[in-house]
Amino acid sequence: MSFLENSVNEENKKSLNFIEAIVEKDLAEGKNDGRIQTRFPPEPNGYLHIGHAKAICMDFGVAQEYGGICNLRFDDTNPTKEDVEYVDSIMEDIQWLGFNWKDVYYASDYFQQLWDFAIQLIKAGKAYIDEQSSEEIAKQKGTPTQPGIESPYRNRPVEESLSLFLKMNTGEIPEGAMVLRAKIDMANPNMHFRDPIIYRVINHPHHRTGSTWKAYPMYDFAHGQSDYFEGVTHSICTLEFVVHRPLYDLFVDELKEFRPEDGDYRPRQYEFNRLNLTYTMMSKRKLLQLVQEGLVNGWDDPRMPTLTGLRRRGYTPEAIRHFVDKIGYTKFEALIDVALLEHAIREDLNAKAKRVSAVIDPVKLIITNYPEGQVEMMPAVNNPEDESMGSHEIAFARELYIEREDFMEEAPKKFFRMTPGQEVRLKNAYIVKCTGVKKDAAGNIEEIYAEYDPQTKSGMPESNRKVKGTLHWVSVEHSLPAEVRLYDRLFSVENPGDVNTDFRELLSPDSLIIKTGARVEKDLENALPFEHFQFQRIGYFNVDPDTTAGKLVFNRTVSLKDSKNK
Ligand code: ATP
Ligand code: MG
Repeated sequence: MSFLENSVNEENKKSLNFIEAIVEKDLAEGKNDGRIQTRFPPEPNGYLHIGHAKAICMDFGVAQEYGGICNLRFDDTNPTKEDVEYVDSIMEDIQWLGFNWKDVYYASDYFQQLWDFAIQLIKAGKAYIDEQSSEEIAKQKGTPTQPGIESPYRNRPVEESLSLFLKMNTGEIPEGAMVLRAKIDMANPNMHFRDPIIYRVINHPHHRTGSTWKAYPMYDFAHGQSDYFEGVTHSICTLEFVVHRPLYDLFVDELKEFRPEDGDYRPRQYEFNRLNLTYTMMSKRKLLQLVQEGLVNGWDDPRMPTLTGLRRRGYTPEAIRHFVDKIGYTKFEALIDVALLEHAIREDLNAKAKRVSAVIDPVKLIITNYPEGQVEMMPAVNNPEDESMGSHEIAFARELYIEREDFMEEAPKKFFRMTPGQEVRLKNAYIVKCTGVKKDAAGNIEEIYAEYDPQTKSGMPESNRKVKGTLHWVSVEHSLPAEVRLYDRLFSVENPGDVNTDFRELLSPDSLIIKTGARVEKDLENALPFEHFQFQRIGYFNVDPDTTAGKLVFNRTVSLKDSKNK
């Protein structure tokens, strides 16, 4: 079954994904007083990518669908990697994708509450300061089948742990010298229960709390509690957190003991499968490396899977949301073919993009029997898929540019483009026949000559004459110079995240080809950055923000057809 058939079928009967089913059941049972509250919890340590879009569509989508609310919460518990630049970009990208949060929260808003909670745990004998190195602690963890070894500090007096914990926040304790661990069970088959580290020292200013804190909570000691403080009902995340869920529940339960006034309320965690895409690297850490090492031109490089990169590439929020909807949510990891994403943008732009003419690798075509100085304005339909988009005019003249690859002097039988003696149609204009060429000393074709049949323009007696090929063209005099950036997949292997080779060696050498000598029809003179077009017979392109008054720059969003997957 093809992807297309799949989308057609699904449009008619929308079935619930498993999270929606859980939400509907909770609503039916009157849980949480009928409240639905979700959150999207990015760590502000990089730009959002297409994988995050899947989480965003879920978190915001469920809230929207069931009259609930979704907040944006920055999971900012590691100041060394976080920055306001990322906070700002995350907000921009979520809105671009078409979603709005109710409130913005930061895990750092809860540093005091988490600190107080940690002190309560220490006092209750449920947490202790361990002065071993992280290597020693890791060594004692055991394996899933072998119990761990208890730390020699595990049963130290409460008072000792308390006073050391206070010191962890004064700046006098070097990073790594001690940590706070929850005292749970060193033999538990779930490794996350083996006295997990819940606080560590980081001597780096925080982008929001400055130097107030030196002791920072770990993810597991911040996430569930943050959900709890905010009143989240459904804490939706990805499958790698399944093994963290018991710990999430344990800390929420502990917290509830200190807050009897909160009654029955408690957040619950649900997990769906991450988005993994072929030929795509989705780890923020590695994306950061690509940016920092100059292997791409920034987070918004059109080859990046970031939302800002996809936007610059010419992807639309509608196409991304549609793609996410089609791949769906399951409880099983999978690798999705990037061709499905490409299909989604093709489909969207097919409906929306204005058709124009652009010649990327031009060679001159002279219509020798066309009067010198004559210009005809040929009507060109803007979008055959959408009559309401109207039409524009393209200038036809004696000297044109066509695509170099659309001509062959000695062509095989099935070459239906221009070759001496063979008739072809020039799109929106006449049928022409090649009569000869002019070459330079090295044998390169400089000019192609052809004759046109004046009776073959649209609406004329011979306009329906059958020819095997139709070529696009622009007028030499009436076209504009442009730079065209031909983007392709960044990686040359299907699963770059899953190969033992350094991922930098897996970068495709052809992911960007720059054509500086392209010519585009005059109609594009006032095209605006991010505007979408179909370059007829070539693909979908958009205007790059590098465009200046004197120089148009276009990015190839996607080719017209999927030439890679047959
Ligand atoms: P990365 O592994 O790329 O650094 P992350 O999970 O650390 O991503 P976060 O900022 O913590 O990034 O992610 C915010 C939310 O987005 C989390 O709920 C996470 O589960 C979700 N998310 C991240 N990557 C994906 C993905 N590839 N597919 C679906 N959801 C994702
Ligand atoms: Mg994360």
